[in-house]
Amino acid sequence: MIIVMNFAATPEEVAGVVAKVTESGLKAHVSEGKECTIIGVIGEKSLIARFDGEALPGVEKVLAVTESYKLASRKFKVTDTIIDVSGVKIGGENIVVMAGPCAVESREQLIESAYAVKKGGAKFLRGGAYKPRTSPYAFQGLEEKGLKMLAEAGEITGLKIVTEVVDAVSLPLVNEYVDMFQIGARNMQNFQLLKAVGRLTKPVLLKRGLSATLDEWLNAAEYILSEGNQNVIMCERGIRTFETYTRNTLDLSAVAALKNMTHLPVVVDPSHGTGRWKLVSPMARAAVAAGADGLMIEVHPNPADALSDGPQSLNPENFEVMMQEVAAIAEAIGRKLK
Ligand code: PEP
Ligand code: MN
Repeated sequence: MIIVMNFAATPEEVAGVVAKVTESGLKAHVSEGKECTIIGVIGEKSLIARFDGEALPGVEKVLAVTESYKLASRKFKVTDTIIDVSGVKIGGENIVVMAGPCAVESREQLIESAYAVKKGGAKFLRGGAYKPRTSPYAFQGLEEKGLKMLAEAGEITGLKIVTEVVDAVSLPLVNEYVDMFQIGARNMQNFQLLKAVGRLTKPVLLKRGLSATLDEWLNAAEYILSEGNQNVIMCERGIRTFETYTRNTLDLSAVAALKNMTHLPVVVDPSHGTGRWKLVSPMARAAVAAGADGLMIEVHPNPADALSDGPQSLNPENFEVMMQEVAAIAEAIGRKLK
């Protein structure tokens, strides 16, 4: 439910409505706009149905929200959310690039990757320390050793660190080393994990599930938001379709659709989205043209030797070329890449 306050409503009237909402066992989220204040009301459906806000002083109108996600909805918050990740803003004018290897393999490989992506203009170093692999026999990641290497690479280069967290058990440990959590496609509906990151304040990059609808994906974001953590970034990474040439089908219409549906920033990962390094730069350009606020790109010093996702990884030279190509698109739509 959304309560729209009258343009002349006083702070006391807004506080009065918030108090009434809270007394009714519901939660109020106040968002002050240029024209008026709106109060988003969330909670159990039966309590919402019983809540009568129309007659409260200062209230202009009360609107029902039909979507099951509320805090993630553009109706609740009209303006774009800009998320500050250790000083780097995601969702504003600048397009933020997160790049690095699929997996942290060794200190040398990671430091070399970090220098390469920094040189190309990335602001974040990515790299998996915990790898949710399809096969239990595939490389599973260096775990805490990998986290330490990520933190060291971040300190040396000044890059911010984003890495995947795979369960609530390892979350406190990952929290010690990184600037932003990544929830992977396979965990998009791991509701316990979503709630656990929701109870922290560190930003969360939420990847789209392998076959998740936009509604399911936004509801996953809602799990995090409803626990209190408002720093959620959506990441399109391709979905399963009948096509087999590409690893996944990168759904760029999702970028435009999400921009209407939610105020949260949207990032695109054309590496997992296509599975082929030659398609990464064209799809990165298309993503930025479609309105993406950032890109996640797999880069490896020597993709042929990568322990995972070599075929979709750019080498440092191709990453630099991609960055130049994407910068031209960013400029054409009035945004900046670096
Ligand atoms: C990744 O980014 O390392 C990854 C495993 O991606 P996804 O969860 O999108 O498959
Ligand atoms: Mn990968």
